[in-house]
Amino acid sequence: MHKIVDSHCHLDYEGLAEDLPSMLKRCEDAGVGLMLSISSRVKNFPGLLVIAETYENVFCTVGTHPHNAHEELDITTADLVKLTHHPKVVGIGEVGLDYHYDNSPRQAQMDGFRSHIAAARETGLPLVIHTREAEDDTIRVLEDEMGKGAFKALLHCFTSKQYLAERAVELGLTVSFSGILTYKSAQELRVTAKALPQDRLLVETDAPFLSPVPYRGKSNEPSFVVKTLETLAHTRGVSVDEMAKITSDNFFNLFSKVPRPAVFA
Ligand SMILES: [Zn+2]
Ligand SMILES: [Zn+2]
Repeated sequence: MHKIVDSHCHLDYEGLAEDLPSMLKRCEDAGVGLMLSISSRVKNFPGLLVIAETYENVFCTVGTHPHNAHEELDITTADLVKLTHHPKVVGIGEVGLDYHYDNSPRQAQMDGFRSHIAAARETGLPLVIHTREAEDDTIRVLEDEMGKGAFKALLHCFTSKQYLAERAVELGLTVSFSGILTYKSAQELRVTAKALPQDRLLVETDAPFLSPVPYRGKSNEPSFVVKTLETLAHTRGVSVDEMAKITSDNFFNLFSKVPRPAVFA
């Protein structure tokens, strides 16, 4: 079985941070060979970086989640760029627009989104985008910013309408699916997952949130990404092993700063 990447988790959050060694052992047993732990507050980035420095197969990003955008508007593009100089920091984000919760004023989310895009453009590192119920504004920002100069990006935990995924792919983006893909109610999402080009797909857990079937109600962890991978494979009519290889290849192509470990050969 080909090794698997969990392209989006939060290892510094309660539910995971308490016992990383046994969690990582379960990952090893499940074939999950690499994890990208995502930053949601620059303020908490030092703690996240310690985790990435401690474990060889954990990498991280730096950025401010849209929920926290209003609290970190003082973080500049230059600040973000500087923090990416560490070899374990391989992406920018997560950042974007969440109009479902609206935890942060929309203008703050928008300002944060654009300053992170500038950091992605400057560093050449991929931008991890969180977008929820914000299809049209997400497309508007992506088109506008791509016009100023290309940058690499992905839409994580995709749950939006298919037209956003299609437009994002046209703009060069990758689309990542979480455990939501396994939910019985997610038929429309599986239609989207089937329609996208093979070289633009990733899988993730977003752990400790959003456990896939059959772990719903439990705290999520990276080893459970296998369930999302299985659903994606069935949806697209390929073997699970093949899907593991496809999504791993896509990950290392996009996150090219991550040295591809021998176990992923
Ligand atoms: Zn997110
Ligand atoms: Zn997340």
